[in-house]
Amino acid sequence: MMDEFVAAENLLNKAGLLEVKLPIPLDRVMEYLAKDGLKLRYYDPKQAPEPIKSVAHSVDEVLVYQEEGALLFVNETRPLTRQRFSIFHGIGRFIMPGHRGLNYLARGCTTLNPLTRKPYERQADRFAAALNMPPSRFRHHMALLPFGMQTVEKLAKRY
Ligand SMILES: [Zn+2]
Repeated sequence: MMDEFVAAENLLNKAGLLEVKLPIPLDRVMEYLAKDGLKLRYYDPKQAPEPIKSVAHSVDEVLVYQEEGALLFVNETRPLTRQRFSIFHGIGRFIMPGHRGLNYLARGCTTLNPLTRKPYERQADRFAAALNMPPSRFRHHMALLPFGMQTVEKLAKRY
C-alpha cells in the first residue's frame, strides 16, 4: 500500500475508527486529533481571520502551525462534500511527516485539482480519499474506479 494509504489507516486504527460504520465520522477523527493539537476552524472568506486573510478567498483550506499544534481553516462557502474532503486533505498534511514545515502550505490549498503537479498535493488528496474510504475495506472498488471527486461521491452513495 502507498505511504499515504498506510498513514490514513494508521490514524483510523489509533482512533478506533477503522471498522466503524461509514461514513467515517469527521467529529470523532477531529476529537482524536485534538490530542495532537489540531483544531478545526470554519471561516467565511469575507471575514477571514488575520493569519489567513490574504489567501482566504481563493483556497479550500489553510493549515497554520502554531507554537503547539496547528489550526486547520476551512472555507465554509464550499459545498459540504468538498469541505469534508478538504478537511481530510488538511489532516493528511498535518500528519504526514514530509509535509511538516513546507513553506507553501501557509498559502493554503485548493484541493482536488486534478492537474496539480505538486507531489505533496496529490499525496494529500490520496490520503484524504483513503481516510474517507479505508483502502483495506474498499481496495476492490478503489482499484476499479478512477480517482477523483466523482468517485468519492459515487462511493459515498454506495456505502
Ligand atoms: Zn494541500
